[in-house]
Amino acid sequence: MSEKLDILEAVRNEYKQACESLNLDPAVYEILKDVERIIEVSIPVKMDDGSTKVFKGYRSAHSLALGPSKGGIRFDRNVSADEVKALSMMMSIKVALLNLPLGGGKGGVRVDPKKLSPRELESLSRGYVRAMNEYLGEKIDIPAPDVNTNAKIMGYFIDEYINLNGSRQELGTFTGKPLALGGSLARDQATGFGVALAIKYAYQRKDLDLKDKTFAIQGFGNVGYFAAKYLSDFGAKLIGVNVSDPRDKNGSSAIFLDQGFDVEELKNIRKEKGSVLSIEKEGVKRISNEEFFALNVDILVPAALENAITEDIARTIKAKLIAEGANGPTSPKAAFYLEEKGVLIIPDILANSGGVLVSHYEWIQNQIGYYFSYEQIKKKQEDDMVKALKEVFDMAEKTKVNLRKASFMKAIEKISQALEYRGRF
Ligand code: GLU
Repeated sequence: MSEKLDILEAVRNEYKQACESLNLDPAVYEILKDVERIIEVSIPVKMDDGSTKVFKGYRSAHSLALGPSKGGIRFDRNVSADEVKALSMMMSIKVALLNLPLGGGKGGVRVDPKKLSPRELESLSRGYVRAMNEYLGEKIDIPAPDVNTNAKIMGYFIDEYINLNGSRQELGTFTGKPLALGGSLARDQATGFGVALAIKYAYQRKDLDLKDKTFAIQGFGNVGYFAAKYLSDFGAKLIGVNVSDPRDKNGSSAIFLDQGFDVEELKNIRKEKGSVLSIEKEGVKRISNEEFFALNVDILVPAALENAITEDIARTIKAKLIAEGANGPTSPKAAFYLEEKGVLIIPDILANSGGVLVSHYEWIQNQIGYYFSYEQIKKKQEDDMVKALKEVFDMAEKTKVNLRKASFMKAIEKISQALEYRGRF
């Protein structure tokens, strides 16, 4: 059964609860309960058949107290003003937790990108930048990839931006760019690596390591693959993978291998055959979505869809740790049920924050014109994430709240200090 969610109402409520628990001046919630800026535009695109279609585009900047807004742009059928507002409010939490001098942003276009030709997609991407140009900039608002957008689209964005703005070669206006266009080493793997670091840290807090722990992963895209790769490097064993499959009646299905998959082998199968489901190997069983979530594993990593874990699914979960690789994969009701049962949930705002963290390094590199080595970035990402993880776990322990609420509290504490010094209350 699907649970209808008012995502904006839900995130507002999280801000409210955190502000109350921190005993903050009521002005802080009044300021933070809505976004500072939301832009809605219409983007006309000349289609290949000669017709013109108009798409709705949005960009929201939530809190600019700590710095310019930062966050991805998604191309998706469900994009709405409320969705980007809510997601930008979550970005404010992510960037503040990581101590970045940035605010929360998010944007999107309401479109099914699978229905566009490559030329139409390029035209839509350039149209988005033309419509939003005034509100973009290295020191204004810095977009990045999100659902259904990638480095290639960032390439169109930055090219259009530079074309529109004369000679201003401000590469740091977008992050997640191709390497040849000022992208950063290790940006593509940053979110998945961060998910693996968060899980490793959660075990370390209990003086345990990941050796021989089992995990299952939903999604084997960029985030899923790199999370699986690093978890395997840390000693854990991947036994279940759930990916979308257009031939399946539920749109997705999964594979299971008791002795553990070789992550690189799965990657090669995906590359050669289009999907990890095409694996032909002794012992591999094809299982349903339901069977996937009910697997007897230590760790579950939902790294694909929003709202993938509903309350019904939660009741079947046996994992003791869930790390949210995707944004919003666990419904609030499901999360409540799981935490009552003692499952530890590392929330999206913490677990998947590695992406925006390395985006920040990309932004720095673009502005100083000096590029860090792969090793420097990996080391800095680990140090910065462990610092944020420690702060949140400490806050959760001290105030006896879950990690999600502790993340909101820790981040809002920092944002409210900036608001106070700006004289906003
Ligand atoms: N879209 C990613 C996120 O939700 C990355 C944002 C960024 O790099 O600015 O965190």
